Amino acid sequence: MTAILKNFIGGEWVDGSGVTRNINPSNTNDLVGEYAKADKAQTEKAIAAAKAAFPAWAQSTPQARYDALNKISLEILSRKEELGRLLAREEGKTLPEGIGEVARAGQIFAFFAGEALRLIGEKGASVRPGLDVELTREPMGVVGMITPWNFPIAIPAWKIAPALCYGNTVVFKPAELVPGSAHALSEIITRSGIPAGVFNLVVGSGSVVGQTLLDHPDVAAISFTGSVQTGRKIAQACVLSNPMKKFQLEMGGKNPLVVLDDADLKTAVEVAVNGAYFSTGQRCTASSRLIVTEGIHDRFVAAMAERLKGLSVDDALKAGVHIGPVVDQSQLDQDLRYIKIGQDEGAKLAWGGELLKRETPGHYLQPALFTEANNNMRIAREEIFGPVAAVIRAKNYEEALAISNDTEFGLASGICTTSLKYASHYKRNSESGMVMVNLPTAGVDYHVPFGGRKGSSYGAREQGSYAREFYTTVKTAYTFPG
Ligand code: NAP
Ligand code: MG
Repeated sequence: MTAILKNFIGGEWVDGSGVTRNINPSNTNDLVGEYAKADKAQTEKAIAAAKAAFPAWAQSTPQARYDALNKISLEILSRKEELGRLLAREEGKTLPEGIGEVARAGQIFAFFAGEALRLIGEKGASVRPGLDVELTREPMGVVGMITPWNFPIAIPAWKIAPALCYGNTVVFKPAELVPGSAHALSEIITRSGIPAGVFNLVVGSGSVVGQTLLDHPDVAAISFTGSVQTGRKIAQACVLSNPMKKFQLEMGGKNPLVVLDDADLKTAVEVAVNGAYFSTGQRCTASSRLIVTEGIHDRFVAAMAERLKGLSVDDALKAGVHIGPVVDQSQLDQDLRYIKIGQDEGAKLAWGGELLKRETPGHYLQPALFTEANNNMRIAREEIFGPVAAVIRAKNYEEALAISNDTEFGLASGICTTSLKYASHYKRNSESGMVMVNLPTAGVDYHVPFGGRKGSSYGAREQGSYAREFYTTVKTAYTFPG
C-alpha cells in the first residue's frame, strides 16, 4: 500500500474527496501512484488562498522571486534522472526524452528567475507640456493553469515560472492522466520559500476542478494547453464570466513537413522520423503530414520504411528504446480508428500500424506510415495525436507550399531542402507560428516564443520574454509635477 499523494492548498498538503490512479502505459499492472482528487469546494479554497496571497506576492521584491525560481530550477536539474524516470513511467515517453523534458523544466525556471530581475518600466515625456508619463507592468492576479498530459512537467513549468516571476499567484490543475510529475514539481515549488497560498496544486477532472477555475470570478486569467475542443469551452467560459478573464490557448496541430527534390535524403528521413514518431507522435508539434515532391518521393518512402523497421517500440524505461507506448487505451483506440479511416479513405498503409506484444502488458503500437494520401482525407486534416503520418505527393514546391498551408491549424511547419531560395520562401510564406528548415517540427528553444496561429493558438505567446504579455497588464501613469 502506498500513501495517497495530496493536494497543496493554502500552504498545506490536504486530502481529497476521491482518488485518481496513475497507471504506467508500458506496463498496465504497474501503479505509479494514487493521488487525492480535489472537489469543487477545495478548488474554491485554493482560489481563495491564491487571492489572499496575491497582494503581498505582487509587491515582493524581484530578488525574492529570483531566489525562489532559482531554487526550484536547481532542485529540478539536480534530480533530473529520477524525475525523468517518473515522467517516462507515467506518460510513456522514453527515458532519455523524459530526462530531457525535466531538464527543460529546470532551464525554464532558471530563465524566469533572471526575467524577474529584468522587469523595468518606461518613462517618457507626455505630449502635454510639463507632464511625465510612465509605463509599468503589474501582475494579473490569480492565474488558473490547465495542462495536458503529453508534457507533464515542461508545460506546467512554462506556465508556472512566468506566472510567479511577474508576481501572480497560481492554481494549477494538471491532466488527471499524469499527476506524478505535477506532484513532484509542486513539492519542489513548496520548498522554494514562497509564502503560503502563492502556489496551489489541485488534481482532479477538467469537468470539476477545471470548470470551477473557469467559473470563479476571483480567477483573473486562464492559461490552457490541450485540445481544440476543450480550448473552445475555455474561451467561451472566460468571455462569459464576470469580470471577463484573460486567456491564452495552445491547442492542436496537423503540422506539415515539406520534402523537396533537392533535400538531403538522410537528413529528410531523420527529420521526418523524429518529427512524426518520437514521443510516440504525441506532440502538438508532431509532423503528421509529409508533403513530398515527385522527384524524391519513391526514394523517400523506401528509406522511411527501412528506417521505421529499425526502430524499437518497447517499455519506455528500457535502454535503447526509440518509441514508448501510447499513453492509454482511449488514445490507442483513437490511433487505431484513424488507421482504419485512412485505409477506408484509400490511402495505402505502407508500413506499421500493428499492435505489438511486449514482455509487459502495455499500449504498444508500431509507427504507421501512409502513402498515396491526399490532403482532403481525414488522416490529413484531423489531429490523430499518435505515431501515424501520411505522405502526400506534390508536383513541385509551389504545390507543396499550398498543401502545407491548406489546414485549419498553424502551429509548426518544416521544410527539408538544400536550396536557400526555397528555404527563405517557405519561412516567409508558411502560415504557422514556428518554421523549421532541415529540422524536426518538434524541438524548440525555451528563450524564444512558442505558439501558433489559425486554429492552433489563441492569445499571447508563451515562453521567452514574450510570456510577460500574458502574465502582466500594463499601467499608464501620468504625473503633473505641480
Ligand atoms: P484535453 O483533453 O483538451 O485536456 C487538457 C486539459 O483540459 C486537461 O487538464 C483536462 O482535464 C482539462 N479539461 C478537460 N475538459 C475541461 C473543461 N470542461 N473545463 C476545464 N478543463 C477541462 O487535451 P489532452 O488530451 O490532455 O492533450 C492533448 C491535446 O493537447 C492535443 O490536442 C495536443 O495537440 C494539445 N497540446 C497542445 C500543445 C500546444 O502548445 N499547442 C502542447 C501540448 C499538447 P482532464 O484531467 O480531465 O483530462
Ligand atoms: Mg499514467
